[in-house]
Amino acid sequence: MTPRESSSRPAPAPDDRAVDAATAWAAAAAVPDPELPMVTIGGLGVLRDVTVDDRGRAHVQLTPTYTGCPAMETIRADVVEALTDAGCLHVDVELVLSPPWSTDRITAEARGALAAAGIAPPPQRGETVDLALPPACPRCGSRRTRVLSRFGATACTALWVCGPCREPFTQVKTVR
Ligand SMILES: [Zn+2]
Repeated sequence: MTPRESSSRPAPAPDDRAVDAATAWAAAAAVPDPELPMVTIGGLGVLRDVTVDDRGRAHVQLTPTYTGCPAMETIRADVVEALTDAGCLHVDVELVLSPPWSTDRITAEARGALAAAGIAPPPQRGETVDLALPPACPRCGSRRTRVLSRFGATACTALWVCGPCREPFTQVKTVR
């Protein structure tokens, strides 16, 4: 038996195995939201921080959209899988409840993805709105809409119907 060749490739030092923070962030940020799969947890602002130590162990901070959000366990599992696939050797996930999540954390890109899917996005960051004002219909833009149910398919959405076009639509509720 010849000894295993080691001249061409030295045993990797711990640093060589580490996943860089930008790669880890991108992998975690790309995880889709289980309830609103057209947007990612990065776009929703649920992903708060990702750090990777020199041994490839990732520490992830997530802020749930709503306390007790049932999707969090799915998100947690999906983040662990995504970072493991990206090469992290160990992943731990911390839920950070303070400062709380707000709809201001949703990126412009994610708002666009919601609107494109026919879901009324919450108002933009810095936009002063009358929270009692009904959301505009994502199909025709009319504000002559009325609520059908304060809770849609998920706790973070409500179900509305448009007067002019009679189209029911989902709204992501504003949280500030
Ligand atoms: Zn309409």
